[in-house]
This record gives sequence, C-alpha cells and structure tokens, in this order.
Amino acid sequence: MTTIYFDNNATTKVAEEVLEEIRPLFCDLYGNPSSMHTFGGQMGRRIRQAREQVAALLGCDPSEIIFTSGGTESDNAAIKGTLAAAPNKRTIITTRVEHPAVLTVCRDLENHGYNVVELGVDRQGRLDLTELEDRLDDDTALVTIMYANNETGVILPVERIADLVASKGAVFHTDAVQAVGKIPLNLSKSSIDLLSLSGHKLHGPKGIGVLYVRKGTRLSPYMLGGHQEAGRRAGTENVPGIVGLGKACELAADNLEEENSRVKFLRDKLEAAILEKCPDCRLNGDPDHRLPNTCNISFEYIEGEAILLMLDKYGICASSGSACTSGSLEPSHVLRAMGVPFTAAHGSIRFSLSRYNTEEEVDYTIKKLPPIISRLRELSPFVVK
Ligand code: PLP
Repeated sequence: MTTIYFDNNATTKVAEEVLEEIRPLFCDLYGNPSSMHTFGGQMGRRIRQAREQVAALLGCDPSEIIFTSGGTESDNAAIKGTLAAAPNKRTIITTRVEHPAVLTVCRDLENHGYNVVELGVDRQGRLDLTELEDRLDDDTALVTIMYANNETGVILPVERIADLVASKGAVFHTDAVQAVGKIPLNLSKSSIDLLSLSGHKLHGPKGIGVLYVRKGTRLSPYMLGGHQEAGRRAGTENVPGIVGLGKACELAADNLEEENSRVKFLRDKLEAAILEKCPDCRLNGDPDHRLPNTCNISFEYIEGEAILLMLDKYGICASSGSACTSGSLEPSHVLRAMGVPFTAAHGSIRFSLSRYNTEEEVDYTIKKLPPIISRLRELSPFVVK
C-alpha cells in the first residue's frame, strides 16, 4: 500500500536535492568548521553559503541568521534571550493559539514572576488588534505572536503587529515555523525583530532551525559555550543540517509562487469535496487568510482519532491536532480558544499538503472519506437514529 501523506504541518519529506547536498557531509567532508586546517575550513564556507540561502528566502542580511536545533530552540532562545536583555521589564504578550514551544515557555515564566498576557481569538482564529494595543505598556518586554497557526493555517497580521509593537518600544518575535517556505516573507521591509523557523517543515532535515535576529535587537545568548555563531549560539555546528536547510530554502525561494498555487488548488479541491459530501462538518479557521496547504475540518458526533485510524487503513496520513499534542485525548487548545464546541473540536481533522501531493491522491481521499464518516456516524451514540 502506498502512503498518501497529508500531514506536512507535522513534518515534511526531505527533498531529494537536499539529500544530495547533505550526503557527502557525513563520511567524506566531516571536518569541524572551527578547525584551523583546510579540511575544516571547507565546512565554514558551506555554512556561509547556507546562511546566504536562508537570508535570500527571508529577505534579510546573512549576519542576522543564527542556526539553532529547530523551531523549539529558536522560540525558547527568542523569549528567554529577550527577557534576559531587558531585566527591568516583566510583561510578555502572546496568544492562546501559540504552539507549545511558545505557550509552555510563557506559562513557565509566569511561575517565575513574569506577567503573561494571553490574547484570545475569535471564532475564525483572528486576533483583535485593539486589544493588543490596549495591553501594550512600558512594562512590555516582548510580544510573541505566531505568523501562521499550525493547526488551522490561519495567518495572523504580524507585519501590522510588528509596527504597533515597535511604536511602543517593545521587542516583537514571531514563530514563523509554519509560514516560511509556504508564503512569501520579506524581512527587509518589516519591523519584525525576531523570527523562528524550522528545517523539517520545508523539506529540510529535522533538528535544524534558525532564529533571525534583526540588527540592533538586544538578545542575551541562550546557549553558552564556544564562540560559534558569533558567540550567539554555542555548540559545534550541525553542518549537514545547516547545509540541508540552506538548500531547502533555495528550493522554496525558486518555486514558491508556482507551488503555492498548485498546492492551494489541491487543498481547495479536497476541502470543497469533503464539505459537500459529508453532512454536519465545518471548516475551522479564517478561510481568506490561511496557508495554502492547510485545511482543518470538524466532523460532528465522531472522534477525530477514529477517523484517523480508518484513513490510516487506506494509507492516508492526516492529523487530529498538532503532532505534539496528539496522543492526549484533550481537544486542541487552538480550537477551544476559537470557541469551537467540545464535540466538534473532538472530531477535527487537519489535512496539510505539500508540493509532493498529487491530484490522484486527493481524488482517492475524496472517494474514501465520506463512507468512513457515514460508517462512524452509524456507530456514534451521539447521533439520533
Ligand atoms: N512552532 C510551530 C508553529 C510548529 O508547528 C512547530 C512544530 O510542529 C514548532 C514550533 C516546533 O518546531 P521543531 O519541531 O523544529 O522544534
């Protein structure tokens, strides 16, 4: 049975071109970039090239790129590093729909005496910017708001938020792990101070990420040790990861527009057919401001996990929440924050596509899913027969 992979917000396939770049870096070109010899020095050049490739995708200067171990580390480093650099300020503003890599960090800081403001969202997952404006004050050290939500794909107006935050003298960080490589970004025209991204979400390797730090932004280093990354992140560089991420960014930059419209066409076809063929289901998230690859649908009266298991029998991979929270039977904190009723939140499925999906896969899923939903509804104690 072939696998139909619609779980690309959890992780993505490494592009063949990326693998080709990385392959020689394990057994042939394995020097330490900090070594004095030519063999190590070659690695330094590869890292410089990758830094330029990432910077080109983001529209920033290569010196503003710090390589980390992934999105989680970048988020931690941005939040903790900003607070350490502004010891007189004690307030952090975030949202209730952040990924745990941000939300758990903020809630932990609350236990250490920080004042954490969690902004709510409306039924479509949208923020109220006047509420943000009201809550910003002289005590605000940091505002951290995601670019695009991992569960619903909703895109938040972070460029406008960044301008607002800059006008109040606070630092603005955005978790752009789901946005980078899926929608165009240009940091040279933006007030964003700090931005996180992760290699494995854009067809790069796992265990590599970036924290973009705008020139002049005050940030205390989070990982101490050697002098790597200009003293901003210690530890021997993950050269294969860095080189792979650079190549993944180059591929994303080269094909962004064309892939966007192809993936959006497939996502829209899948979504429209599900909403038409399955009664009592609804789309979660602002339909007009969404990543082109993501679709989150609630199926009333049935459990998302049951749908996933039955899809899995046909080789179709989807998700019933973010990868980090699946395994728990709590409904998604994102859908709950949006006011999605408990029963509908329990029956929600996320389909997230990539450039490697085909129309045949979408057509196959459209054929298989409606009978699964009818069958599960027949078995559901919540459906009045
Ligand atoms: N932020 C968001 C929005 C994510 O979707 C994820 C991963 O699912 C992360 C952060 C964590 O990234 P990583 O897996 O690279 O640590």
